[in-house]
Amino acid sequence: MTRLVHTQDELSDARARLGGSIGLVPTMGALHDGHAALIRSARSHCDAVVVSVFVNPMQFNQAADLERYPRPIEADVALCEELGVDVVWNPDVPTVYPDGPVQVWVTAGELADQLEGPHRPGHFDGVLTVVAKLFAAVRPDRAFFGEKDYQQLTLIRRMVRDLGSGVQIVEVPIVRDPDGLALSSRNVFLSAEERRLALRLPAALRAGADAAGSSEDVLEAARAVLAGADGGADGVELDYLALRSPELGTAPVAGQARLLVAATVGRTRLIDNIAVELRP
Ligand code: AMP
Repeated sequence: MTRLVHTQDELSDARARLGGSIGLVPTMGALHDGHAALIRSARSHCDAVVVSVFVNPMQFNQAADLERYPRPIEADVALCEELGVDVVWNPDVPTVYPDGPVQVWVTAGELADQLEGPHRPGHFDGVLTVVAKLFAAVRPDRAFFGEKDYQQLTLIRRMVRDLGSGVQIVEVPIVRDPDGLALSSRNVFLSAEERRLALRLPAALRAGADAAGSSEDVLEAARAVLAGADGGADGVELDYLALRSPELGTAPVAGQARLLVAATVGRTRLIDNIAVELRP
């Protein structure tokens, strides 16, 4: 039986009743199969599972994006029930930020000066601050994050090391629709035509991974797919296509690397990434 709680007191009470190791799955709700994979991983690693559902205003840099973010809490709780989640914590904003905007927060540092960082100022400070707060409130043994948000995952690992949070971070591979599009709560905003264009992102990543050559070969193969038949004069507005080391440093000449992409299609911003093997 899944228990839905809202306040900090309710959470503390529910937490006290859980025995053994605790797994936390932090989400913003509108749960899909990607979140379900995180929950299943948590179930297999831990004795009890807590899912937090909180649309964190501090990590949004556009008011319209925050406002229109989907919040189907009843369907989310039903899915959690199906997946054997023990506690769903769905706090309101004053529960998480009782004094209004924080005056002391976690700063992401130079790992956030690249990729998503310049496009979403303050985003990662907001993510890290809320994750630190969720860790403090739930006190999990392990927390589960998707590779879908690869830079976020990398920063959270770094935060746990730098702050000594004492939480083991478990990563979960990206879950995709059969057509290749990475599942995202924002995909519901895509029209049929936009969705067709959006498929260029995973197709470009796959082309890059299949190239399995030098950095230039990989980027070239991915760029060609992103540009499409008409050379890019259509609805895919690219923010970046970038190759990095698995830790998001400079890509090596040979060996494991990560290819990352972000683009806006219509009014919807999409991100995706894939592991690639570089061969000089
Ligand atoms: P969100 O609700 O979008 O903040 O995501 C909550 C967690 O689910 C994050 O750790 C995401 O990386 C993860 N996640 C979102 N989409 C996917 C996906 N398609 N595959 C795997 N994990 C995902």
